[in-house]
Amino acid sequence: MKVYENNYINGEWVASSGTGTIEVVNPATEEVIATVPAGTAADVDAAVAAARAAFESWSTTDVDTRAKYLRDIGAALMGKFETVADTITAENGSPKQFSALVQTGMALGEWESFATLIENFEWESRVGNSLVVREAIGVVGAITPWNYPLYLIICKVVPALAAGCTIVLKPSEITPLNAYLLAEAMDEAGLPAGVFNLVVGTGPEVGAAISGHADVDMVSFTGSGRSGAEVSKAAAPTAKRVGLELGGKSANIVLDDADPAAVAMSAVFACYMNSGQTCQAHTRLLVPQSRAQEYIDAVVEEVEKVRLVDPAADEPDIFHALGPLASSAQQERVRGYIQTGIDEGASLLTGGPDQPEDFPTGFYVKPTVFADVTPDMTIAREEIFGPVLSILAYTDDDDAVRIANDSIYGLHGGVQSSDPERAMAVARRMRTGQVDINGAPFNANAPFGGYKQSGNTRERGQWGLEEFLETKAIQLPG
Ligand code: NAD
Repeated sequence: MKVYENNYINGEWVASSGTGTIEVVNPATEEVIATVPAGTAADVDAAVAAARAAFESWSTTDVDTRAKYLRDIGAALMGKFETVADTITAENGSPKQFSALVQTGMALGEWESFATLIENFEWESRVGNSLVVREAIGVVGAITPWNYPLYLIICKVVPALAAGCTIVLKPSEITPLNAYLLAEAMDEAGLPAGVFNLVVGTGPEVGAAISGHADVDMVSFTGSGRSGAEVSKAAAPTAKRVGLELGGKSANIVLDDADPAAVAMSAVFACYMNSGQTCQAHTRLLVPQSRAQEYIDAVVEEVEKVRLVDPAADEPDIFHALGPLASSAQQERVRGYIQTGIDEGASLLTGGPDQPEDFPTGFYVKPTVFADVTPDMTIAREEIFGPVLSILAYTDDDDAVRIANDSIYGLHGGVQSSDPERAMAVARRMRTGQVDINGAPFNANAPFGGYKQSGNTRERGQWGLEEFLETKAIQLPG
């Protein structure tokens, strides 16, 4: 077991001012693999002071210098590729190949991407007699969840650094270890002291101290709606900018001309990827009443190919290998939802709430499919964040769009059809920040974020950079 005692503040590894510790548990073995400090509000004060002191100098470095630091940090992290991937597997349970290809691979791509972006970004423009200047917003507090622990940190830290902001990062207390590797990479790349600071600890202590801090200019938050609301409340008195990336209950609309086998392949991965712990997971499959049984049969056949695995083992098929959920609390929560689905009268087609027989240890949940789900059922309305698919039937395209949009969330969605124009027409009517047609691949440079209670901002690409910028107009005399 590894014992971490420090935060990373002002370019140094500094012991937390608190005495508490937090255990990090491997979700496959249920063993404690590390302890980290339970940081305090005093640690946050020190980190924010360091970030504030570093801001003027960092925000006024030229773009080429910032781009070089981004590339150097990316290279330092690349040098730790295997350690990063193995750490993510150990702390959140993603199968080894998924941790390498998706969790780590995506996180490493962003450094070069934002270096190039800022080299080509229009930092100044003219509007009549005004010069409009884009500037770094200031000190950024970044608060992140456990499901894609490093990638979701990177989605904030890279654009914030690229913009010229300084940062105080609080990673999830469930998966904090990869953030230490990131801080090491910053240190190795020689990033000036105070530009990036890491304070590890719980949400109610460290997260709340960041959100309410008078010297933090912006909080960029990814996590649940419940915590996001706490962040917004704490941030309100100081009118800081709050960027929220929250939950979802995404609908995947299968139009009646879609091929069942193709639907099954893409719909199953879109729901079960990362054991269903993906904010955009397509957890509601909407099928036409007229062909419902064909689609249900194809989906169940595909789900039965999905296997629970030991995440540390070599499993080349990332599409059909699921690890455990990230924590015992999450496992309990998801099993509770499966039981609620049964209690409310949905038809359980495969899976169920019990511990899988082959995995008596570990926070595993069986890949589960419900049919005969109606829009008022709990499993059709609430984010479950586990491997549970709810299949709902609709009467016609209008009914499908109505059911899809009948949600407090609006993060993501899908449309399946053999007719591109029909699919596009439905995609345009969905009240969500992204829509995939026929399982189209993820685009790391496209804006990502939610309508409604899924959030209020956009990350990734130029939209991700703009999130961390202020806009100033300087009026020029005649
Ligand atoms: P969570 O809200 O429990 O925790 C997220 C972070 O917030 C953690 O670092 C936590 O310590 C911190 N936190 C908790 N209470 C806080 C408080 N009062 N003040 C400040 N910070 C606080 O979420 P989670 O369980 O870690 O993650 C799962 C959720 O994240 C799901 O709802 C999922 O949909 C969402 N998510 C959204 C996106 C997106 O891009 N929209 C991406 C991934 C996950």
